Amino acid sequence: MKQRNTRQKKIILQILRNTRSHPTADWIYDEARKVMPHISKGTVYRNLKMLSQSGQIKELKIDKKARRYDGSCHNHYHLKCEQCGCVYDLDISLRKELNRWAAEKTGLVIHSHNIEFYGLCQPCLEKASK
Ligand SMILES: [Zn+2]
Ligand SMILES: [Zn+2]
Repeated sequence: MKQRNTRQKKIILQILRNTRSHPTADWIYDEARKVMPHISKGTVYRNLKMLSQSGQIKELKIDKKARRYDGSCHNHYHLKCEQCGCVYDLDISLRKELNRWAAEKTGLVIHSHNIEFYGLCQPCLEKASK
């Protein structure tokens, strides 16, 4: 039993590490089923929860309709495309000075921050200019 659980977790982690699309739990479930046809939705959801609690993946709240998951857990900024709904990693460096700025303004202790940008992604921009 234990063995199987470990394997399920590994496969789910692998699926997430191999995509940059920040998929929903349902998408991950579909992918996991290709490898393990008998895996249940509940198992996938439970593993996602455990993995995010242990810090191996990140749960994103950028999408109001569905929870999305990120296989890369270092801090980075995201863009949610308002046209197609896709979530992208932004290849820009973190503005660490924002932590200091917020700390100075509020007198509190600030360790990190999260930024989500909203706009148009590259494919949607290209479609719009045609
Ligand atoms: Zn788009
Ligand atoms: Zn990301």
